[in-house]
Amino acid sequence: MKDREKMVEPMRKLLGELTTLEAQAHAASATWSAMAEKFNAMRESIVEKMTDEGVILGKCVGCETLLFEGDKGFRYSEGEMSCEACASTYQEMKEEAEASLAAGGPDDEFRESSERILKCCEEHVAAGGSLAEKWIWEL
Ligand SMILES: [Zn+2]
Repeated sequence: MKDREKMVEPMRKLLGELTTLEAQAHAASATWSAMAEKFNAMRESIVEKMTDEGVILGKCVGCETLLFEGDKGFRYSEGEMSCEACASTYQEMKEEAEASLAAGGPDDEFRESSERILKCCEEHVAAGGSLAEKWIWEL
C-alpha cells in the first residue's frame, strides 16, 4: 500500500502534463490548418489572376496539373487539354479512331473527326514522325 501511495503524485503530475501537451497539440494543429487555408487561398488567387492574363491555360483533364502558356500538351476541339505525360501517342489516337470507325459513329461529325485523326497520323508519319510519339504541341 505504501508503494502505491508513492505513485499517486508522480502519476497525477504525468497525466497533467499529458493533458497540457494534448491542448498544445490541438492549438498548433488549428494554427497549421489556418495557415494551410491561407496558402490555398493565395494559390487560388494567383491561379485565377494568371488564368485571366493567359499565362495559365487551364488544368490537364487527366492529372489536373496546371498547364502554362508554351507547355507541351494536347488540346481537344472542345477545349479540354492534356499535359505531355497524359497525352496519347499517335498510335493510341489512330487505334481509337479506327475502332470508332469500325463501330460506326453516331453521326457524320463523329466520323469526320475520326477520319481527320487518321489523316493527321498519316501526315505525321509521312513527315518523318513516328506513331510512338506523343501527339503534342506547344499549347
Ligand atoms: Zn496530365
